[in-house]
Amino acid sequence: MAASLPPSRPRIPGSGLAKGLAVTLRTMTKKSVTAQYPDAQPDLPPRTRGVIGLFEENCTVCMLCARECPDWCIYIDSHKETVPPAAPGGRERSRNVLDRFAIDFSLCMYCGICIEVCPFDALFWSPEFEYAETDIRDLTHERDKLREWMWTVPAPPALDPGAEEPKELAAARKAADKLAAQQAPPAAEPHADEQARAAERPTRPQGDSQQQTDQPKPGQEGSE
Ligand code: SF4
Ligand code: SF4
Repeated sequence: MAASLPPSRPRIPGSGLAKGLAVTLRTMTKKSVTAQYPDAQPDLPPRTRGVIGLFEENCTVCMLCARECPDWCIYIDSHKETVPPAAPGGRERSRNVLDRFAIDFSLCMYCGICIEVCPFDALFWSPEFEYAETDIRDLTHERDKLREWMWTVPAPPALDPGAEEPKELAAARKAADKLAAQQAPPAAEPHADEQARAAERPTRPQGDSQQQTDQPKPGQEGSE
């Protein structure tokens, strides 16, 4: 014998509308999660993959990033230069000089392989993402643009207390010191300036100090 179906409840007119209004009221009382971009900037995680910055001083034109890029969207041109020997009697060396470094962000899939494989820490992730263009060709960022992104790369997280300083940091500090020494003005100039300033500085007459000590101290007046 077949089981009989439960009797269907009578439908109350307007119940659907009431349910819909209840959902609307519930939602209205909850806090909104919509981000009002671009008026409010999003709070991005520190490891956001926005755009790639190039620190070209570290790039040795080894071509590893261009070869490993799955999209083949890194373009590098270079030429060789002969460097004279560092010491007399030494051998001349040849080195690669970067002529062009560009990344086509219309092809890039933000996999990060180029950054991972770079053996010289020349590529970094920046969280900047506002570089949409109306012309797709403008999404090929040349080396100057890639360098500009470098200044938006966040600082690395702090080392654990007592941790050994990474070799990269020591090397970067050495390179920065060397660059600062090259760009610093000759040592004689600030010295001459200092001497000129010292000559212009008014000197206190010697009698002043005596005058000051001769002044009666508060509380001494009238004691004599
Ligand atoms: S992130 Fe990936 S796709 Fe983009 S340039 Fe680097 S290797 Fe190529
Ligand atoms: S892997 Fe690094 S060092 Fe080599 S070409 Fe690319 S950016 Fe330059």
